[in-house]
Amino acid sequence: MQGCAFIADQWRPAADGQTIDMICPSDNKVIGAIARSGPVDVDAAVAAAREAFEGVWGRMTAVDRGRILSRIGAGILDHAEELVGLEAADTGKPLKQARADVLACARYFEFYGGSADKLHGETLPFLNGYQVMVLREPRGVTGHIIPWNYPLQMFGRTIGGSLAAGNATVLKPAEDACLSVLRVAEIAAGCGLPAGALNIVPGLGVEAGAALTGHGGIDYVSFTGSAAVGILVQQAAAKHHTPCALELGGKSPQIIFADADLDAVLPVVANAIVQNAGQTCSAGSRALIHRDIYDKAMTGLAERIGNLKVGSHDMDLDCGPVINRTQKQRVEGFLTRAAESRIRVAAEGSIDASTPVEGFYVKPTLFEAVPAAHELAQEEVFGPVLAALTFKNEAEAIAIGNGVAYGLVAGVWTENGGRQLRMAKALRVGQVFINGYGAGGGIELPFGGVKKSGHGREKGFEGLRDFTISKTVVINHG
Ligand code: NAP
Ligand code: MG
Repeated sequence: MQGCAFIADQWRPAADGQTIDMICPSDNKVIGAIARSGPVDVDAAVAAAREAFEGVWGRMTAVDRGRILSRIGAGILDHAEELVGLEAADTGKPLKQARADVLACARYFEFYGGSADKLHGETLPFLNGYQVMVLREPRGVTGHIIPWNYPLQMFGRTIGGSLAAGNATVLKPAEDACLSVLRVAEIAAGCGLPAGALNIVPGLGVEAGAALTGHGGIDYVSFTGSAAVGILVQQAAAKHHTPCALELGGKSPQIIFADADLDAVLPVVANAIVQNAGQTCSAGSRALIHRDIYDKAMTGLAERIGNLKVGSHDMDLDCGPVINRTQKQRVEGFLTRAAESRIRVAAEGSIDASTPVEGFYVKPTLFEAVPAAHELAQEEVFGPVLAALTFKNEAEAIAIGNGVAYGLVAGVWTENGGRQLRMAKALRVGQVFINGYGAGGGIELPFGGVKKSGHGREKGFEGLRDFTISKTVVINHG
């Protein structure tokens, strides 16, 4: 497995033998190596997937496909603690977060295993003497690119959904975090997944990623990552008119009205930004607080953020390091520029004294009274940084909530039923939570963005349908 890609059930070094070291963000130490796959390796993976799609895997009944996926779910649970250790060391996330991710990955395979034989087409009324059937078919070979923030969760939702729909898959995980998904590929093969149904070509985005998205042999691209790379992916796929689904970033608001139950709100709001060190597409990175309760809510939030402890993944504190040095510098850039614009820090967490100095740690930070146009209220920081803003009424809450380029998730906190519905309808996002918030997880819930947060849906049955394509059959039976 070390230094290899996984193609047609075999561990293969890159054609040119190159590898990339895998680093643990907690202490900047090398913990393994992956293949630096290139176009030749991607060609081999796409060919293996095509063979599986046209062969054993493509001919398998939906029931049998579902059984294999369910077994993979069980196999992941059987190896849960091993996967927790790998995921935590590779990404720096605290063990409890890695444990939640392993369980979510297993749940995706359970959910999609159970759904494989429930996916069906329909018949339609048409002219007299005709029968119309709309078949729901797999797309064929699907290419998948995932980021480093939740490797196992992203793997489960995109690969689980695609395999359940009957596709054969090629995945390029992020250069920064590959070890857990490579291990799951091996577990999946042991659960009876036929050779070639799942191929993994680790490597760089500009090499393996670009080769995969621009490959003429794939029928669909499922991309999860940044908005900037999403544009490159669409451009590459356009060469062959390959359809794409893009799951991109977010700047999700938590909108807290004056009648909200602050005891229930504040722990959730604090967790939704500190979870995974803020490196979550659906992180609740803006707290919009009604002016009548602003002072009280900020006192409570500041206390929570101020008490957060940061440390290495195995210390299992509230928050781990960010993924790498570049990301740390990027987050620190936001903090420096905020200080230059005289935006006040309301609270900062602390880095535990025994934390390795070589790691990539950032203190969770709460900023107060951030102007809605400031970059802290507009840009995805992708770190544990929460911007608090105020609003005076519902209309202003909607204007500020929608006043960003992204539209992924929103949280609304109010006891007023009419307002709950009005807000849910007015917010331009893919998911709205009322009196709760779910950053990550939610296997059953359709998920995806509008605007710069992307298009296409994953998770739930809607995600499954995106991995299929309809074919209309018109029969003139006289
Ligand atoms: P990223 O830089 O866009 O990378 C994502 C993936 O794309 C990585 O595997 C990367 O490879 C690859 N890539 C880079 N350049 C490429 C190219 N030219 N062609 C094809 N692939 C290429 O994003 P990230 O920094 O890893 O992840 C953070 C972003 O993901 C955030 O914006 C976050 O909001 C978003 N995200 C969205 C969701 C969602 O469901 N909406 C979920 C999670 C994360 P390398 O890393 O190996 O270079
Ligand atoms: Mg790593």
